[in-house]
Amino acid sequence: EDMVLGIDVGGTSTKIGIFTVSGTLLSRHAFPTVAVRADGSFAKLDEGYDAVLSRIGVESSRIVSIGLAVPGMIAAEDSLRLCPNVDLDLRAYKSYLRVRFARASVHVMNDADAAVLGDMWKGSAAERGATTFALLTLGTGVGAGVVVNGKLISGNNGAVGEIGHLCVDPASDVACGCGRTGCLEQFASAGALVRMATEYASDGWGGYESAKDVFDAAGAGDKAARAAIERFADRLAFGLSQMACLLDPELFVLGGGLSVSAEAFIGVVRERYRGYALEVCRSTPIVASALGNDCGMYGAAYRAMKKLGPAG
Ligand code: BGC
Ligand code: ZN
Repeated sequence: EDMVLGIDVGGTSTKIGIFTVSGTLLSRHAFPTVAVRADGSFAKLDEGYDAVLSRIGVESSRIVSIGLAVPGMIAAEDSLRLCPNVDLDLRAYKSYLRVRFARASVHVMNDADAAVLGDMWKGSAAERGATTFALLTLGTGVGAGVVVNGKLISGNNGAVGEIGHLCVDPASDVACGCGRTGCLEQFASAGALVRMATEYASDGWGGYESAKDVFDAAGAGDKAARAAIERFADRLAFGLSQMACLLDPELFVLGGGLSVSAEAFIGVVRERYRGYALEVCRSTPIVASALGNDCGMYGAAYRAMKKLGPAG
């Protein structure tokens, strides 16, 4: 049987789903994201993809189409214009896949664009029948995919939804990977949570190493961790309120690795959003995606499937 791959290259881990050409998930896998350079070694990628295929005994020749979602802005002709969190040579990755999966065509897209498609296909927007909505990926980076009247929009430079680089604090001097300061990504990402919790710890305690550490500490009553989560939620809500003025969506969906811990912050996000948003937009629902951190993988597979055409 022919199959498609949905690949979501995240800042920290690469998620891969093997799907039938009609969209049933057969198997899933994840391995740590590795730097991909034109002149580098592909041994680590080989290891990852070998494990994925051997797990359900699939030959690479069964794969006929691949959706490759990457954590950066895609301008025309697959060129990666801004990819602040991963060392990724897109052409090298694509040609690696073309050799490894000789029968497959490879379709590249931004990870948040993939995520919004995945959610529209099988996630929260699908459940609610929303056709104008945005999905924010909260993880190593922060991005958004935007769907208007059922269509993904990307803009003149592919920059629609680059909400991670929306300025949410002009007074901030925290530098962002995009070369600017005060970006949402420096408040609403995993690294930002760790940075803020460390800043707020009165003795400068450096014990938070991951977002999970911060959520765990907050759950145990740690004040610095709680303050960091509040600041995170507050700036995220502010970002959403600004986005509402441009898009006026039916729904905001939260995805990405941090969305699986949404119960720790979504209440504050909703409350602050109501305070910041234009009055008519105040009741826009904000939900965690029903697909959790798998939206991107599903969306990448969906794109790969659609590229095969209606016959499948
Ligand atoms: C990038 C976006 C990406 C997001 C999530 C941001 O830093 O600019 O293109 O979608 O991270 O990975
Ligand atoms: Zn930025």
